[in-house]
Parts: sequence; C-alpha cells; structure tokens
Amino acid sequence: MAFEYAPAPESRAVVDIAPSYGLFIDGEFSESADGKVFKTVSPSSEEVLSEVAQAGAEDVDRAVKAARRAFAKWSALPGSERAKYLFRIARIIQERSRELAVLESLDNGKPIRETRDADLPLVAAHFFYYAGWADKLSHAGYGASPRPLGVAGQVIPWNFPLMMLAWKIAPALATGNTVVLKPAETTPLSALFFADICRQAGLPKGVVNIITGDGATGAALVEHPDVNKVAFTGSTEVGKAIARSIAGTDKKVTLELGGKAANIVFDDAPVDQAVEGIVNGIFFNQGHVCCAGSRLLVQESVAEEVLDALKRRMQTLRVGDPLDKNTDVGAINSAEQLARITELAEAGEAEGADRWAPSCDLPSAGYWFRPTLFTNVTQAHRIAREEIFGPVLSVLTFRTPAEAVEKANNTQYGLSAGIWTEKGSRILWMANQLRAGVVWANTFNKFDPTSPFGGYKESGFGREGGRHGLEAYLDV
Ligand code: NAD
Repeated sequence: MAFEYAPAPESRAVVDIAPSYGLFIDGEFSESADGKVFKTVSPSSEEVLSEVAQAGAEDVDRAVKAARRAFAKWSALPGSERAKYLFRIARIIQERSRELAVLESLDNGKPIRETRDADLPLVAAHFFYYAGWADKLSHAGYGASPRPLGVAGQVIPWNFPLMMLAWKIAPALATGNTVVLKPAETTPLSALFFADICRQAGLPKGVVNIITGDGATGAALVEHPDVNKVAFTGSTEVGKAIARSIAGTDKKVTLELGGKAANIVFDDAPVDQAVEGIVNGIFFNQGHVCCAGSRLLVQESVAEEVLDALKRRMQTLRVGDPLDKNTDVGAINSAEQLARITELAEAGEAEGADRWAPSCDLPSAGYWFRPTLFTNVTQAHRIAREEIFGPVLSVLTFRTPAEAVEKANNTQYGLSAGIWTEKGSRILWMANQLRAGVVWANTFNKFDPTSPFGGYKESGFGREGGRHGLEAYLDV
C-alpha cells in the first residue's frame, strides 16, 4: 500500500500565461493572416490555459522567408559567435527552469517531478552541448569547413515539448542553419516561452521562428519549396506521409518515429532493480515515450517472482495532480490519446490477454488512465504489436536468449531495447543481435545529449544527439 502523503503542490504563481499568443516570426509576435486561433487546455483539469494563433500557408511562407533572410548573416558568423548565443540561451533556460517546468506540467500533464528533474535539465544540457560544438565543426569529422543546409523546417510532438524543441533547435543553430519550428497543437506554450527566451538572449531576428498550428500547418511547412531540411518527430504514419510529400525534392530529412521496445529481464537480474527499470520504462511520462519499454520479455523461470514484485510496486504509484511533487504518473495528454489507449486496452482484453491495474482513485476532471499490465499476451495480439503510447505494459515470456532476441526483434519498429542481466558477455551479445537504435543495459530511458538517438525500420532514420546529430544539419 502507498503511504498517505500530504499534498505538496508546486506553486503556479511562478508562471504567467498570457490569455493569447501570436506567431513568433522575424523576432516579433503577430496574429495569423486569417486571424484563426485555437485553445490549449490543461489535460489534468480541462481548464483553458490560453488561445494561440493557427498558422496558415501564408504565415508559414512569411516565417520561411524570415528564416531565409536571417540565414545569410547567421551562417556567416564565426562558430564562436553562434556559440555565445547558444550558451546564453542555455543559461536563461537554467535560470527560468522552475517557471518552464511548471508551464510544461500544466500544458502537457506530466508530473512536475519529471519536468523539474528530467526535461528541463536535459533541455539546458542539450543547448550547452551543441554550443560547445559550434566553433569545433571543422573537427567533427565532416570535412574542413562543413556548410549548413539553410532553412530547417521542424515539426515536433507533444510528449516532450521543450526537450524535442531543444533536440531540433540546438544542433540546427550550432551548425549555422536558421529554423521554423512547429510545436504540437496540444502543447504549444513552452515553445512560445522559448521564443521569448530567444529575444531575451538577443538572438538575431528570424534565426528562430515558432509557428503554432495543427497537422495542416506542419504539412505546409515541410512542403514549403524554400525549406532545405525537414526534421520531424512524431508518429510513423505522419512520418511516411512526409517522406512521400518530399520525395523527389532535394530536401534533407530526418524522421524520429514510433517504437515498441522490448525490456528483457533474465533470470540472473537483480529483481528489485529490474522492477524499477520496468516501471521507469513504461510509466515514466505516462508511457507517452517513443522509446518506452512497452513489451516486457521476462525469462519464464522468474516470471512469477518478477510479476509479483512489479504488481506490489505498481500499487505504490501515485496518479494525480501533475503539480504535486509526490505524483508519479500524471494526466494523459489529450482526450484523443486517452481514447486511443482505452481502445487498445479493450482490444487486449477482447483478444484474450489478462488485464490488471492497481486500485487507485482518479481525479474527476481531466484525462486519466491507470497504470496497466497485461499478461497472457501473445505476439499476435495488437497490444504486443501496436504502439499504445500510454501507461500499458504487455508481458511476454521466453526461455532462451535466442528466443528473447527473436521476440524482441519481431516488430516493425526498432527504436530502443533494454537488457537486465548480471552477465556482461550476454549484454554485449544481445546488444549486437537487437535491431534497435538504443540498447540500455541494467537501466532504461537514460538520455544524454552526447549520445546519438534514433531508429531502425519504421522507427525512422537519422540520428539526433551527439556528434552524429550534427550531420543531419550539415552539407556533407
Ligand atoms: P503526430 O505524428 O500525430 O504529430 C506530430 C507532429 O506532427 C505534430 O506537431 C502534428 O501537428 C504534426 N503533423 C500532423 N500531421 C502532419 C502532416 N501531415 N505533416 C506535417 N506535420 C504533421 O504524433 P503525436 O501524436 O504528436 O506524437 C506521438 C508519436 O510520436 C508517437 O508515435 C511517438 O512514438 C512519436 N515520437 C517519436 C519520438 C522519437 O524520437 N522517435 C519522440 C517522441 C514521439
């Protein structure tokens, strides 16, 4: 049973959300050409937080033109000068991190403990890391004076709004490109606050442009003829549509798409540590994580012991107010996502898997889903094949390492995997066999700006992070 904790809410007073926001183009906020707007709500309460502009084709064109104008000067700056801006942005993010953490929790629904301890430190670290590369590009292994590509059109999802922005903007600016970025329609606010940080840092006008809107805005951006580079993170379905729409152009593209990662627990793994890793793998960020360990593969001989310990641990997860510092699992990001998770969980039951969830009260307003476990899952079940993108774990068993590899690789995706074992030799053998861009050993969901991240198969192509992340923004 969970201990009774008194509420420990983080103060909302540290963030000042305006009733409405325009598009950030050429260093200024302005309305959309046709005056269209949409609302962004807090998924934990359904409260309207603000109204933001919906960019149409005309606005996208204006933003791309601003980025093009800014490109000549920005790309001609010495790397050490571009670095100064990036270091300044990184420091301002640190200074404003409490405000940004509260904002992100409000707009996304994720717990303050995660925005404060994971998202924001990683966002700042990403800017610091790429700031450090800006004057060392000639030593990065891409030739003596690698050239930037030009204007980058970047489209990001709602699960890590500010972190995905950092992964896109930091390497693009370090390498001398200018950007037009579109955040997801359910989480536009932190990108708009970032626009303010660009102004605070004195970043030249037009180097960063933020346009808000839905899929149509994203499509107009990636299809714009004067965009040189497309960087997309989101669903495999939209990634495929983007690949089709830019086929035959000379646009460079990176796609970071979905996943269905296997988290593999061997019989010699320390059970308590593995259970923490399983919980972190699938319940971190409500399971809205492309590299989530959504398929648990546990060796048959220890399956019962591991599942018993896992259920006990899941009983202690606190689901509720994202701004409460005790909360482990926050709100589902939107009504649409909740409907999709609910539909897939129902399909799991209908197909014969056994559903279990801890008893816990859920708030009456907002979008919520209990941390859920499915046993008796077969590889043919939808919950073992499709990305649920929610706090739902499908458990399968295996007997031999070879069977674990075969099951782990039996997916259209290939973004990440986890291995839990005491044997170093087995870790190395498994890591070589697994078709996944990232393989964690005795840990999960560990991110570092120095480490490249990206997928195999339908998880996309290209790498973000590390030295490899520079290549996506250079003419090599
Ligand atoms: P989504 O693909 O629906 O939306 C992502 C973004 O694309 C949003 O900003 C959306 O407005 C925009 N968009 C929608 N249609 C578009 C189009 N036709 N052209 C251009 N842009 C368009 O995905 P989502 O629901 O926001 O995010 C969840 C998905 O993202 C999951 O599948 C998850 O695995 C994936 N994801 C992947 C990574 C990664 O690094 N591989 C990281 C986070 C999320």
